[in-house]
Amino acid sequence: MNNSNEIVSIDNDFKMIRPPSVRWPEPANVYFIKDDDGISLFDTGCGCDSSVERILNALKSLGWDKLPVEKIVLSHAHPDHIGGMEALSSYLNPKQIILHEIDVPYANKPNDLHFSFDIPLCNEKNREKGNDEGHGFDLLGYFEMVNCPMCSVDVSKTVKQKDIINIGRYVFEVIHTPGHAPGHISLYDADKKVLLAGDIIGEIVAWYAPSSGGAMGYLDSLQKVDALDIDIILPSHGGVIKDSKKIIRETQAVINERDEIILNALKSGPKTFHELNEALFEFPLIQFFPGAPMVESHLQKLMKEKRVELLNKLYSLG
Ligand SMILES: [Zn+2]
Ligand SMILES: [Zn+2]
Repeated sequence: MNNSNEIVSIDNDFKMIRPPSVRWPEPANVYFIKDDDGISLFDTGCGCDSSVERILNALKSLGWDKLPVEKIVLSHAHPDHIGGMEALSSYLNPKQIILHEIDVPYANKPNDLHFSFDIPLCNEKNREKGNDEGHGFDLLGYFEMVNCPMCSVDVSKTVKQKDIINIGRYVFEVIHTPGHAPGHISLYDADKKVLLAGDIIGEIVAWYAPSSGGAMGYLDSLQKVDALDIDIILPSHGGVIKDSKKIIRETQAVINERDEIILNALKSGPKTFHELNEALFEFPLIQFFPGAPMVESHLQKLMKEKRVELLNKLYSLG
């Protein structure tokens, strides 16, 4: 178990706490901002003991562990970002827990994440392939199995696009950035030109699902962020990013490339959903999730753009 902290200084009062790896199921980065009233957090990481200990140890080593906790802002209701809330709440006792209004039902009732992850679609596609084992996929059980359990969170304040969250010297505007989660937010300080991106930009390109905004929602979110004047991006997975334009282009390219793979596969004739899933993703487990929701979200996009047609369960070029 690795409990070592990597504390990255954004400035004297603004710290990034990095987990040992950017890969799921390691927790997301947690950010601390100190001001005259106390400290505030952006996300809390996983609910496993090692992650919770890492956060508490980081506060201790900064000498901030006795300070009152003002706000905990949550980027979205996924376990690697909010799973730590339950264990941390009793230590931190935050005055305010903030989340986008659309993600509140998932924070209240984590079992509903089945819907924003499009697990019913995954199960249906799996059955179509003849892999029906008589029961659907247990998402919350899976989170527990990989040691990043989800908890329910009582949100005390909801936000939406363009709302302002003041934290010390920072005036953050809420940018609603769906695609990966329906109520995903990024925070932008126009004066300091800083973006807390959440999962939509970082060392890995996040998965997406139709019920969370899909490929179309993700690309729209990237366009929103592209319109901002940014000096540094602080992602939830990975280190500080200086060249914001470059990473936005690279993220767009990864998503757009998947359209091209589908269109290329269709050049040789009509294909089933599963054939297209196999063209995009190599491994059966990935084809199940997030493959199926990602393929579905690209097909919805391509059909809306009239580049792909569906007839008798077969996709062809439009
Ligand atoms: Zn996420
Ligand atoms: Zn994440």
